[in-house]
Amino acid sequence: MTPTPDSPYREQVVGLLTQHGKERVIAPALETALGCRLRVVGGFDTDQLGTFTRDIARAGSQLEAARRKAQLAIERSGLPFGIGSEGAFGPDPMVGAMPWNAEVLVFIDAQRGLEVVGEAQGPGLQLDAWARDWADVVALAQRVGFPAQQLVLGIGPDGTPPLIKGLDSWPTLEAAYAQQRARSSTGKVWVETDLRAHANPTRMAMIGQAAADLAARLQQQCPCCGTPGFWKVQRLAGLPCAACGAPTRLTRAWVHRCLRCQHHETRVLAAGTLAAPERCDHCNP
Ligand SMILES: [Zn+2]
Ligand SMILES: [Zn+2]
Repeated sequence: MTPTPDSPYREQVVGLLTQHGKERVIAPALETALGCRLRVVGGFDTDQLGTFTRDIARAGSQLEAARRKAQLAIERSGLPFGIGSEGAFGPDPMVGAMPWNAEVLVFIDAQRGLEVVGEAQGPGLQLDAWARDWADVVALAQRVGFPAQQLVLGIGPDGTPPLIKGLDSWPTLEAAYAQQRARSSTGKVWVETDLRAHANPTRMAMIGQAAADLAARLQQQCPCCGTPGFWKVQRLAGLPCAACGAPTRLTRAWVHRCLRCQHHETRVLAAGTLAAPERCDHCNP
């Protein structure tokens, strides 16, 4: 990504609230694009705001949680710029059969009173199952790419403590299995993928994509007032068909709008962009 020469965040320090190593993927994307520097804001247990293992429930939506972390980054660092990140897992939105991971990054610019949100979503690595014996644990571990992908062992699917998290080696996994098995009244142990960023490489990559999205949005400045985050707010359909020229349902243009002034622009896709006739209601009704 090429840096924006006139980025208002050049040489500025941006606080990031994380305890799970997310700076590894967020810093390269933002620092390269904007010329800013990221500072990790520690000393706050982000698990207090909710955990994937259900032992602490998240209050509010995913976006609200990310926004809260960005605000905390500003409050705790005294910097005017803060970033918070929040992930969610669930079934995929198309068929509902595949684990799906959605990541949100909220950037708050307290100087300008701006909030810009970066997003990414796609297939995620989330798997859980009962293990009747050690062989079941080994099979599941191998299926998810343990130990790069870490595991959590519990005594049931409801997140009831004690949970043993952050298992990242075969000896610690085996010891944790023996402990949970001794606690379990049925002899079965609950195994699940650790969904925290540093323990889930697939998720960490998705956070990197959300950071790239955020960087791209912050690089776009309003042509009138220079405010960053001049981004797509509305899609206009009607891309002409390559065969008959009729308007299709595909995107013809995007309306971009400033977060601060009234300025907005309709940006049409590059000249010569046409829809394939298979997507045309006239040619392929
Ligand atoms: Zn057509
Ligand atoms: Zn503007």
